Amino acid sequence: MKNIAILGSTGSIGTQTLNVVRRHRDLFSIEVLCAGSNANLLIQQALEFNPNAVVIADENKYQQVHEALADKDIKVFAGEASMVDLMAMDSIDVVVAAIVGFAGLRPTLRALECGKPVALANKETMVVAGAIVTATAAKHHVPILPVDSEHSAIFQCLTGEVSEVDKILLTASGGPFRGMTREQLANVTLDQALKHPNWSMGRKVTIDSASLMNKGLEVIEAKWLFGVESKDIEVVVHPQSVVHSMVQFRDGSIKAQMGIPTMETPIQYALTFPERIESHLPRLDFTNYPTLTFEKPDRKTFRCLDLAYYAIERGGNMPCVMNAANEVAVQRFINGQIGFLEIADHVERAIQQAPFVANPTLDDLLQTDKTIRNQ
Ligand code: NDP
Repeated sequence: MKNIAILGSTGSIGTQTLNVVRRHRDLFSIEVLCAGSNANLLIQQALEFNPNAVVIADENKYQQVHEALADKDIKVFAGEASMVDLMAMDSIDVVVAAIVGFAGLRPTLRALECGKPVALANKETMVVAGAIVTATAAKHHVPILPVDSEHSAIFQCLTGEVSEVDKILLTASGGPFRGMTREQLANVTLDQALKHPNWSMGRKVTIDSASLMNKGLEVIEAKWLFGVESKDIEVVVHPQSVVHSMVQFRDGSIKAQMGIPTMETPIQYALTFPERIESHLPRLDFTNYPTLTFEKPDRKTFRCLDLAYYAIERGGNMPCVMNAANEVAVQRFINGQIGFLEIADHVERAIQQAPFVANPTLDDLLQTDKTIRNQ
């Protein structure tokens, strides 16, 4: 029996993790649930899964959660500091890091410091502080198990291999705007950006998918997870999202991991690795996909991908700068304050103007994030 803590239980990945747990009650139990501000869903989840403790990051919602769970044997906390502190609980066996954005960094890092294996969905944590996060995991001898479908695919392709890889082929669906020109993109709406062709996900990652920033973040995530230089990570647009990613080895052989587009498979694999357990999900029927296509990304139109390559090649605090600018720009696009193409403009300006720190400490990164958001 594995006791799980979920950071971001009320989100898309969090709720899908609970779907996996619901189907395998003999293998998993929920120890801690952490949410941002969705008190109603957190309460509902707590009543169903009976965790030891819950945290609501939004302190204004504490009273509501506390009152709803008053007659249950469930501890209720509020605020980021509580979330970070709870990662030390002896009874936690694995932490699912599924908060969106920079907000996931501190609790995820704390989980690793406390020796907890982390099933990582929160890619921004790796983007912002990949060097610190991987060094912390190594120091405490704990694995970081990828949940992102592409990284789970790469991880599965690498399992059992001992030789260096030639390159990673990171697949991308291309998002809802694949094939559009800059002129067409100038007027796209939020509703259009949120209509991802293959995946149902949280808003931020869906917008990131539409701009290809998501793929840029994933290149950086892959670099840190697998120790591969960014020049050896090639993005391939594969609109069917059946091949989740591939690895090419020194002898020219390529391994691909495939399946239907669902996050429950990589979530389950991260929780059961190295074993595979039964899944009720439909199997991939190749006759439903008679044509699998692959093409190069349109880097001129979707500029965020190249900005991400630039940021990781520059190194230091640049990925953190890029991430902060992107988080703010995406939120402004969601609020209707800027157009879709301006997301890349904001990110580029931040990268050009931010002070460079070559070897940032965690404090430097916290400061960088704050400064860029304020700007
Ligand atoms: P969602 O927006 O659906 O969920 C985000 C979760 O984070 C919610 O539980 C939210 O709480 C919580 N949260 C937000 N801000 C804070 C905060 N300051 N403190 C504590 N909790 C907070 O996002 P997704 O589930 O889609 O994505 C989560 C991460 O996983 C992202 O990094 C994304 O890139 C990555 N990912 C997602 C995939 C997907 O299919 N969804 C696929 C691969 C990666 P609340 O709602 O209660 O406010």
